[in-house]
Amino acid sequence: MAVELMTEGLTTEALTREEQGPPSGPFEVIVVGGGMVGITMACLLGRAGLSVVLLDAREAPLDRDAVGRGRPSMRVSALTPVSRQLLEGLGAWQGITARRVSPYRYMQVWDGEGSGEVNFSADQAGVPVLGHIVENDVTLAALEASLAELPTVKVQFGARVAGLETDGEKRAVVLEDGNWLQAPLVVAADGARSPLREMAGIAVSARDTGQVAVVTTVCTRLGHGGVARQVFLPTGPLAFLPLHVEGNDRHCSIVWSTTPAEAERLTAVLEEDLGRELGAAIEHRLGEVTVVDQALALPLTQRHAERYAGPGFALVGDAAHSIHPLAGQGVNLGLMDAAVLAEEVVEGRRRGLSPGDEHVLVRYARRRRGDNAAMLALMDGFRLLFGARHPALMLARNLGLSGVDRLGPLKRLLMQQATGHRGRLPASCRPLSRRDAG
Ligand SMILES: Cc1cc2nc3c(=O)[nH]c(=O)nc-3n(C[C@H](O)[C@H](O)[C@H](O)COP(=O)(O)OP(=O)(O)OC[C@H]3O[C@@H](n4cnc5c(N)ncnc54)[C@H](O)[C@@H]3O)c2cc1C
Repeated sequence: MAVELMTEGLTTEALTREEQGPPSGPFEVIVVGGGMVGITMACLLGRAGLSVVLLDAREAPLDRDAVGRGRPSMRVSALTPVSRQLLEGLGAWQGITARRVSPYRYMQVWDGEGSGEVNFSADQAGVPVLGHIVENDVTLAALEASLAELPTVKVQFGARVAGLETDGEKRAVVLEDGNWLQAPLVVAADGARSPLREMAGIAVSARDTGQVAVVTTVCTRLGHGGVARQVFLPTGPLAFLPLHVEGNDRHCSIVWSTTPAEAERLTAVLEEDLGRELGAAIEHRLGEVTVVDQALALPLTQRHAERYAGPGFALVGDAAHSIHPLAGQGVNLGLMDAAVLAEEVVEGRRRGLSPGDEHVLVRYARRRRGDNAAMLALMDGFRLLFGARHPALMLARNLGLSGVDRLGPLKRLLMQQATGHRGRLPASCRPLSRRDAG
């Protein structure tokens, strides 16, 4: 694995400083980034007994007692049953259900410009639920609690990494305050704009989707009935993700992907007007819509790192790939990266290999990059097909959606994708009762 190390930007003086800040090593792995993927990574390694330090730029952990109460947060993710199994094994799922979680058993996807519609149900997929909508903070709070139980994992908040260096067999990260830490493996889970990816000199292919996601929370006159709804409009897809709030099913989280100009307009209009537009856009399927939070605009860029690893260095989660949210796959793919990398590190260790060994990292990259690339390409295809105004493509997509609805095997395949059942799952993602099965 030929990898050029980037040595710009930091002086070796930073590495030879006397003052070494807390926490003190030695560590086998440094995880940079305490989002959902980074914490999962640290939990998996810590549960296998590795000594790990997790560094995050956030000033402090979440107030775990406050999360999941009152008005739902605007940032949510649809977690697949496979991600749930992973989180169950880490003891985090229990922390999620104790706060707030919204299962959905049905999915309804239709073409706002035509007649095509496809309906999925948990029964057809042979699973109890198709997935769960969970506020990102709820997942994070539950993971932070699981992490706090692990004696071999140290966590430092307010620790922004400013440099990445090589020190003999080890990689070293240098913090903004000049302190540094070293380990045989540095895992970058530092999000879509990943400063560490850049420091490692790993190129990324980025494609502006030409869309911006407007997110908010709404209350609807009719209950959602545990159905995740998505309509493809000419400007982009609009999702109503079902939330259960204090025993009622009349809240939804909105992800409206649209043109930048439309997003600017939608975030500036009065709440009543936005509610009216949302209600009309989903053809009044949930009755009157009332917006109960501010509307936030998030630019959508698809990125894919050209390599997932270098010497003593690996990328996971959004740092490796960021994907259009139309199929709700982003964090699910990231959690799978963490599960596979942890499995390879632990397996390598059993064979006497260091966590940063080339064989370990090559195996990780091989198992994950192709799968993620296929999902990114699929999202691109959907976006282009549904954005198309060419009559032939419009006909194709209507026939396509209706055809999918009629064709049992194709529908089952799509449902497997949606529920995360793709390829060989790492042991940590299998149901707890089947963890020993090969
Ligand atoms: C509108 C929208 C809807 C979405 N819906 C879904 C969905 O339904 N389902 C789904 O699976 N995915 C969804 N996603 C994607 C999902 O939100 C992301 O994939 C996920 O949040 C990425 O998690 P992460 O841990 O990789 O990165 P992040 O959450 O970005 O975490 C990165 C962490 O790194 C830290 N950090 C950054 N730089 C440094 C540094 N230099 N030093 C130290 N720490 C640093 C940050 O503080 C942060 O805590 C959606 C995304 C969007 C935009």
